[in-house]
Amino acid sequence: MRRKTKMVHGGITGDERTGAVSVPIYQVSTYKQPEAGKHTGYEYSRTGNPTRHALETVIAELENGTHGFAFASGMAAINAVMMLLKAGDHVVLTDDVYGGTYRLTTKVLNHMNLTHSFVDTSDPNAVEKAIQPNTKILYIETPTNPLLKVTDLNKMKQLAEKHDLLLVVDNTFATPYIQLPLDFGADIVLHSATKYIGGHSDVVAGLVVVQDDQLAERIHFIQNSAGAILGPQDSWLLLRGIKTLGLRMEAIEKNANKIATFLDQHENVTKVYYPGLKQHQDHVLASKQAAGYGGMIAFDVGSSEKADQVLSKVKYFTLAESLGAVESLISIPARMTHASIPKDRREELGITDGLIRLSIGIEDIEDLIEDLSQALV
Ligand SMILES: *Cc1c(COP(=O)(O)O)cnc(C)c1O
Repeated sequence: MRRKTKMVHGGITGDERTGAVSVPIYQVSTYKQPEAGKHTGYEYSRTGNPTRHALETVIAELENGTHGFAFASGMAAINAVMMLLKAGDHVVLTDDVYGGTYRLTTKVLNHMNLTHSFVDTSDPNAVEKAIQPNTKILYIETPTNPLLKVTDLNKMKQLAEKHDLLLVVDNTFATPYIQLPLDFGADIVLHSATKYIGGHSDVVAGLVVVQDDQLAERIHFIQNSAGAILGPQDSWLLLRGIKTLGLRMEAIEKNANKIATFLDQHENVTKVYYPGLKQHQDHVLASKQAAGYGGMIAFDVGSSEKADQVLSKVKYFTLAESLGAVESLISIPARMTHASIPKDRREELGITDGLIRLSIGIEDIEDLIEDLSQALV
């Protein structure tokens, strides 16, 4: 099956008993057992639920993995993966990682005596230097948020193998439609499914996919023990979102390419970050390891006053956190998604006060460009 067909026909489709074409929402907590201690595959919905199972099956297929797990949010998924660690273990993470991941690592997991180093993972030498004898996980986000830096997955796999680390990739920005980290040897792929996979700004969810049976058993044990599962209704919304993921990504990327080019030529824009632009520092690598460049663009207008002016003038870009939906969104990372990162650290990373992030939607491109045009004068 090719990519878009898999999104429609992959996993478990419909309901055998009734012929329903859509997987039913099994809004149920417990299941009748034929006798004590025996069950028919489902016993309690924290452990397993048929609607969630259908979602977990299709995401595993889309990521070329064998086991999928659905969580109550992207952060719950990331936290579950970190629960594979033991006190005293160390994690190496991408430096401009999602703000919530930074917060979880530095303000919650540190209390469990889990230590961490943030490095520019687009520089393999810096990664190798950061690896310690107690490092257990190499945690990559690529492309990154919001500067869209790209990390070489092949090189990360080599380092992970050499130092016996689990390679974890947050694939939220790329989606399985354009990037398949498990094919590069990653051990775990995870998503904030709140973003492109859901795609309609109506559900908060997280997904994890692995290939290895033993690792799958450990993740399922954590999912069932800690209990941050996705409910049946939200699982169904993701099943529905996935069917159009390919179509949406194609439309989004077409728009994003045109907008990045427009911004790049605009006199009031000092810098544009989009891996699809030839002059982007990681354009060649992005072209090599992904089938596209996604729908996220960041650009600098020089100051927070100018950024505010753009925000106040745009009509079709909704000022909101989050990304990856059908409607275009606009945000200022320094004051929104990345506000939990201290200011000096933000500036070190290039997340300036004049940096604007766009999540491109599926609107008519002419409307989006006209809108940005009038906002940038
Ligand atoms: C949003 C996001 C998360 C967190 O996901 P939630 O669903 O909001 O908990 C993690 N990683 C990335 C890259 C994100 O964009």
